[in-house]
Amino acid sequence: MNLETLAIFLLVLALAWRSFRWLTAPMPPSLNPWGPDVQQSLDDPDLPELCHRCLTPHGTTEWFCPTCNASVGPYNNYMPYLYIFSQGEILRSGVADRVRPSLLTVGGYLLYSLTSYSLLAPIYWFFLLRNPGRPETVPHADADRAP
Ligand SMILES: [Zn+2]
Repeated sequence: MNLETLAIFLLVLALAWRSFRWLTAPMPPSLNPWGPDVQQSLDDPDLPELCHRCLTPHGTTEWFCPTCNASVGPYNNYMPYLYIFSQGEILRSGVADRVRPSLLTVGGYLLYSLTSYSLLAPIYWFFLLRNPGRPETVPHADADRAP
């Protein structure tokens, strides 16, 4: 056994020991930003579900938000007919909504559109990459509600 092999063996052993210590360390306290009363109200089964886009309460049997038409059904992504609308909502949000541009979101939109549109994906990419510099013209869903 030469010196390099011994050094690599000791490095692997040290990494294994650090991994073991990390896995067996006690868990840090939970970072719950709210008190127990808020947590209890969140756990209430009678609490209505909210739309992830406009926060409008909706029923448990609805597939789409009655206000903004977002896909809110729990099984929309698994139903053969409805998953097309879920995919369309995701891809449409990349070109129409305000999306914080980051490597993860833009990379996700690029790859997802490539798998969905294949040869026509560059057309989607044109609108996707044009979106962050576009001024906001779509009114927010809250603007439609009467005070
Ligand atoms: Zn909505």
